[in-house]
Amino acid sequence: MSDAECFSGTNLDHCDVFGELKTEAFYVAEAREAQANKAKEELQLILGPMGIVVEEEVDHLVLDEAELTLPSFIEDLQNGCPKRVYRASGFCGLHRTPIPSWNLIRMKRYASMCIQFSRGCPFNCEFCNVTVLFGHRPRLKTTQQVIAELDSIYDAGWRGGIFFVDDNFIGNKGYLKTQLLPALIDWRKDKKGCIFFTEASINLADDPELLDLMYKAGFDSVFIGIESPDEASLTECHKTQNKNRDLLQDVKIIHRAGLQVMGGFIVGFDSDTHSTFQRQIDFIQKSGIVTAMVGILQAIPGTRLFDRLWRENRVASAFTGDNIDGTTNIVPKMGMDRLLDGYRSIMKQIYSPETFYRRVKTFLKELRAPEISSPFDVQRFLALIRSGFWLGVWGKERFQYWHLLLWTLIRKPRLLSLAVTLAIYGHHFRRICEKYIFFDSDTGISLQ
Ligand code: SF4
Repeated sequence: MSDAECFSGTNLDHCDVFGELKTEAFYVAEAREAQANKAKEELQLILGPMGIVVEEEVDHLVLDEAELTLPSFIEDLQNGCPKRVYRASGFCGLHRTPIPSWNLIRMKRYASMCIQFSRGCPFNCEFCNVTVLFGHRPRLKTTQQVIAELDSIYDAGWRGGIFFVDDNFIGNKGYLKTQLLPALIDWRKDKKGCIFFTEASINLADDPELLDLMYKAGFDSVFIGIESPDEASLTECHKTQNKNRDLLQDVKIIHRAGLQVMGGFIVGFDSDTHSTFQRQIDFIQKSGIVTAMVGILQAIPGTRLFDRLWRENRVASAFTGDNIDGTTNIVPKMGMDRLLDGYRSIMKQIYSPETFYRRVKTFLKELRAPEISSPFDVQRFLALIRSGFWLGVWGKERFQYWHLLLWTLIRKPRLLSLAVTLAIYGHHFRRICEKYIFFDSDTGISLQ
């Protein structure tokens, strides 16, 4: 029985339920909002594993892995005697994970569907809570489980993107190369759309065979935590897998293999200096990482970073759950003003239309064109028309927008649809920056 089915058979009319389906940022923000509404609407607030972050004012915390704790909570709830906290020791085998009941959601309201092949990550980054939640040894679903789950998504009518939400998709390369990826290649032979994307570590660049299999299986992008071009900062946060390598070259290898790298970057490490900000900008520009998610270091409760900074009396406030909202809960060594100035200078530069569109071209020049693409449906057609109007007629970036489209049409016509998508991303990121990073909500003053 799936989690959703469990809930469907239970009277939860007066409950707000948040699970792993939400990103941490939405989770924490919405959980706090629900806390605020709880008293006036007489809600019972039930939170899943991330609830530990917003523990106060929660009626029921169903922590650790749902396969282990959710069934007893549901049973107690049905019997009218739910406890406040449900915990489990150890981790579960993923063979117990059920297929979600897709009929319980309105798929049209989602940008992508999620599937999980593995949990856990062999690495040990100091700021990361993945290993705290899921451990170091990657636990896998069987190939048959993954294919059955994909079939269920496909049979429900979904043809859009599918996100493999693994903490590190390549945690077990051997199984991927011999079992899962060949099965995925086979699976998509008679399918349309359903492009895959995932998260992985940078050592993906070391394995051309793995890259090629992922490309053939229909992966078109991968999120990678680059964090910093500075070795000292990588050493500090124990991002050993990113050290002593040519990260720029690694990104280009992955682009040339046909996968777009979406990069995570962090500023605010103790080792960061004033020049780190410019080096981050230079790296992002040269790498052609269009979707560069730059955040300020935050200390998540439960992580080794949190424990260290707590001991040093440097945890200043609660974790917001959003590491790209331009805030932090730590006391940075370089001073908060200097850190925020540097952070804003990065965001201003990398998402200004001129710099952003130049980066898109750097990326498109390198990218191996995909063999598999999403069908050009009504939604895509409407996106094209709308972007032409909002970006190409009204937008400040209209010159860069048409220049990019023309350039792509001449140089890389197969990537035209991707060029439009990236132009829309750029607009989105600029809006986010204006709303959160260049705006002081206390004074209502723009910081640009
Ligand atoms: S590689 Fe990624 S998932 Fe693994 S510990 Fe580091 S940040 Fe976390």
